[in-house]
This record gives sequence, C-alpha cells and structure tokens, in this order.
Amino acid sequence: MDNKKYKILIVDDGDDARTIYKDVFEKEGFDVVEALDGVEGLEKAIKEMPDVVFTGIIMPRMDGFSLKEELSKNVATSNIPVFMNSHMGREEDRKKAQISGIKDFFVVGMITPKEVVVRIKATLEGGNYMLKVNHSDSDAFRLVNDLGLGNGFSCPRCGNEMVLNLKTISLPNKEFSAKLSCPICDGK
Ligand SMILES: [Zn+2]
Repeated sequence: MDNKKYKILIVDDGDDARTIYKDVFEKEGFDVVEALDGVEGLEKAIKEMPDVVFTGIIMPRMDGFSLKEELSKNVATSNIPVFMNSHMGREEDRKKAQISGIKDFFVVGMITPKEVVVRIKATLEGGNYMLKVNHSDSDAFRLVNDLGLGNGFSCPRCGNEMVLNLKTISLPNKEFSAKLSCPICDGK
C-alpha cells in the first residue's frame, strides 16, 4: 500500500516549470501527465483520473482557480486533491486558494521543487489515524449521550472499543475529517 504509484497531473503553461517538476516527481516515483492550461488540464483529469493535480494559476484559456472549480463540479474529479503553484506569491491568491479548497499553496522561490514533492507525497500518504477516546473526558461523555450509545464507546455490534478515526485532509494545515468507528466491524 505504501508503494502505490501515484499519478500526478501537472498543469502549467511554462515549459521550464513543467519540465523541472516533471523530473522531480518522476524521480520520486510518480507517473506524470502534463497539460498546458486549465482546459487541457480538465480534459486530462477526466481522462487520466490522476491521484493529484498540481496547477499553476495564470494560464491561457482557463486559469488554475477555474480549473479547480470545474474539477469540483464533476463528481468523478471532485475528490482529486489540487495543489497550486504560484509564480507571483500574491496574498490574495493564497486566500482564494484556501477558500477554493486547494490543498496547499506553494510559492516559486520560497520552496524547492523537491520540498513540494515531499509535501504533496506526505498529504497523499497521510491516510488514517486511529485514536482512542478518553471516556472520562467531559466532551467524550457528552458525545456518548448525543450519539445515544448506551455502553460508552463500546461497539454496539461486537463490543470492542471504538476509536476516533482521523482521515487526512491536509497534513501541512493539520486538517482532518473525523469518524467514530469500530476497528473490527468498520475496518479502516
Ligand atoms: Zn464492532
């Protein structure tokens, strides 16, 4: 599972930028698909179903933000994590990226291509964390009541202790989605 080969779609109208990132991602074991702008990026995302999209912002025909918007609208591509590469590093773009659900926003010159790959990989591999819930914690007690669980955090089906399952949304932002689950009945 850890050796899964990820497919990345790099969308950038700059030949140099694309070539640099293509090299680094390939060295880290990624399959690389390239697109020259948002329109081509959207086509290739639908056709190739990459694990991750890495896009520039300003591009002909369709920019990075519109690309993210289009990907989000399509059920098939809405869950593909999108990372943004900013050549200008404008603060308004960073804010817009956050609001648009961009996973991470990199500024050229502030971070090396190699570090970009490491951070994208960490997010992709972040996966799940299972944490035990402290029963005596006051909010945990309240949670048991709110969920209508009669016997604390024991699984209603098998009686095993349930855990809080955190699924990574973004490791750099320390952002997760959480689900209370039974490690035996619910798997991961
Ligand atoms: Zn169970």
